[in-house]
Amino acid sequence: MATTKDYSQYFVAPDLKAAKKRGKEEVQVLQFEQIPEDMRHVGKNKRYLIQTYGCQMNVHDSETIAGILEQMGYTPTEHEYDADIILLNTCAIRENAEDKVFGTLGRLKQLKLEKPDLILGVCGCMSQEESVVNRLLQSYQYVDLVFGTHNIHRLPYLLQNALYSKEMVVEVWSKEGDVIENMPKVRSDGLRAWVNIMYGCDKFCTYCIVPYTRGKERSRRPEDVLNEIRELARKGYQEVTLLGQNVNAYGKDFKDIDYRFGDLMDDVRKIGIPRVRFTTSHPRDFDDHLIEVLAKRGNLVEHIHLPVQSGSTEVLKLMARKYTREQYLELVRKIKQAIPDVVLTTDIIVGFPGETEEQFEETLSLVKEVEYDSAYTFIYSPREGTPAAKMKDDVPMEVKKERLQRLNEVVNEIARRKNEALRGQVVEVLVEGESKKNPDVLSGRTRTNKLVNFRGPKHLIGRFVHVRITEPQTWTLNGEWVEEPVAQVGV
Ligand code: SF4
Repeated sequence: MATTKDYSQYFVAPDLKAAKKRGKEEVQVLQFEQIPEDMRHVGKNKRYLIQTYGCQMNVHDSETIAGILEQMGYTPTEHEYDADIILLNTCAIRENAEDKVFGTLGRLKQLKLEKPDLILGVCGCMSQEESVVNRLLQSYQYVDLVFGTHNIHRLPYLLQNALYSKEMVVEVWSKEGDVIENMPKVRSDGLRAWVNIMYGCDKFCTYCIVPYTRGKERSRRPEDVLNEIRELARKGYQEVTLLGQNVNAYGKDFKDIDYRFGDLMDDVRKIGIPRVRFTTSHPRDFDDHLIEVLAKRGNLVEHIHLPVQSGSTEVLKLMARKYTREQYLELVRKIKQAIPDVVLTTDIIVGFPGETEEQFEETLSLVKEVEYDSAYTFIYSPREGTPAAKMKDDVPMEVKKERLQRLNEVVNEIARRKNEALRGQVVEVLVEGESKKNPDVLSGRTRTNKLVNFRGPKHLIGRFVHVRITEPQTWTLNGEWVEEPVAQVGV
């Protein structure tokens, strides 16, 4: 007979309904508390491994989790069998992302049996879902620790409970969220850094789980963001990406100051860091002041990722995207007028419930009109707990697949044409390292985030160089290192 364990002592469970609430409570800016005295050396001679799934926000959260663990004395390892603590930082955006996590947990059961002292934890967006936590409690009882996206700063206390309790410790706050400053971080890259400028999302697109898993939109104070970027500049970082689920909503929640994303970008522009990017934009909040500031260029690069999701106003309405096809195209027109060489990229969902052939063709025509340099394209996948999951979906999977293929043909044809236009041009590349496919080749990115491969000495890694494009391809550009500085195009 299955026993029912009493987890109440260690248990704060998620609740999607509570997570949806947006109250009037003011966002509190709290400081990360020091690691408790008795936990400061708990990781001495022990190793940690964090496996990260999903978006850049999660990658950056893993940098914070690593920072906290290292303050407790843990050191990193890349091997599961060497680890004393393994954390899976999960993504809830698509069902197959969740399947992968459960698959990994199943595989790790054996390791946990061999090493009973191993702490196995699940955090990130999946842990904010009731259904996931219930499944963990029922079928993955060997998991020691589950904590949510609002609970990262509590890790030392949660770990303390997990180490000494022998029961699964679950703490997932379904709250709107606060801002925690001064969290330690171990940045995984010495060249490019990610900086959160805001957390959460209030848009509630009908297909998306993020507003439930990440809480309400709340911005970090400008002085905290700017100080972090100045510090990164002092440390020699060459590129910073400002992060948020919807960066264009930055500052909307400030009650005491009138300071929006355009103002922040204008101040970041004055900091001596060579390249500044941001992700992700929501077209609805992209205002004229921001366009004006981006047109000043300098360290603000000419690349904007501007998710459209669909070219049909009716589908956009069902998605609750809060803009029409015409409004989106007007925004693109304004951006292109202010920054004629801008590179636009996007995200598109095909086969949203009820999408007709005509509506899909509107997406194709929008893609042709905007001429994106690249696009992330997906077949709609329902997420439990979202309104779209309850919508009637009469589009057969074969039709969805066929639409995706037609869309990708158009996207690829434009991408190739855009890259072909760079043949013979000299571009500025920040060299990131050896190419993943060939260690004799170096690779890096242009200001517009295009991947460039070329042959050159290893000491160029970490530097800005000039490369003449000789072989443009659909997704990458091959070129030759130009040793003598020459006039370049702004890509
Ligand atoms: S803007 Fe829409 S798609 Fe993006 S995180 Fe918010 S709800 Fe999700």
